[in-house]
Amino acid sequence: MMPRYFDAHTHVNLAGLKEEGGAAIERALAAGVGMVNSGTDMEDSRLAIEMAHANEDEPVYASVGFHPEFALTKKFDYEAYKEIALDPKTVGIGECGLDYYRIENKEERIGEIKKRQREIFEEQIKLAHEVQKPLVIHCRDAFTDLIEILDVKYKILNTVPGLIHFFTGTKDEAKKLLDMGFAFTFGGAVTYPPKEGMPDYKALVEYLPLDRILSETDAPFVAPVPYRGARNEPAYVIETVKKLAEIKNVSVEEMAKITVENAERIFRL
Ligand SMILES: [Zn+2]
Repeated sequence: MMPRYFDAHTHVNLAGLKEEGGAAIERALAAGVGMVNSGTDMEDSRLAIEMAHANEDEPVYASVGFHPEFALTKKFDYEAYKEIALDPKTVGIGECGLDYYRIENKEERIGEIKKRQREIFEEQIKLAHEVQKPLVIHCRDAFTDLIEILDVKYKILNTVPGLIHFFTGTKDEAKKLLDMGFAFTFGGAVTYPPKEGMPDYKALVEYLPLDRILSETDAPFVAPVPYRGARNEPAYVIETVKKLAEIKNVSVEEMAKITVENAERIFRL
């Protein structure tokens, strides 16, 4: 089945939704929404694959990854990740990347945390190259380092293009990532009124070409208006697509089609 909408980054495999045992997936499919459930560690990456296989003939996929917030608290095992990365329902590597936002109150260990985050991210770039699946990147307050790593490692390895999920950088940083071949996923935050300290999403979406824009929910977090503040789920991606259509001045049907096609091309569905 070809979905009408696509949630390119979601977490039905995380607390808040996983307890439902796939009910949120059923609601999404009934609404015409396909999805990629992203892993943040080995356990929820495996669960994402399990959920994808429980919906074998449906547009439900997994990406397997190791989130930078676990750099010092969990172990990254390349071979174990490689095994699950090769699963046919695995369509991407991530979420992976750098997160300097969550380490602000850990002053004395910042150097160590940054170094380990970088090493684990580079391992996942290598993995994406080895299995030829796109990177699903998480980055907060670390775009300078992220771009530097990608500019060297990514170019050397010539990894297939990937996604920057929930982009919070500047237009200048977006330009550099665009030039490297990356696309961008937008979620509930684009439906919120502009806020100090957050990117001007309207200007950013206006700037990006249509073939580099995807829709996501990042559920169970960041629910779009009119569900803001409630627990998010993949079916709500429709609200984000409506907002993207408004900003890009195209019909909702057209925006839905474009975001599905972009997902199909990048994840090779
Ligand atoms: Zn996420």
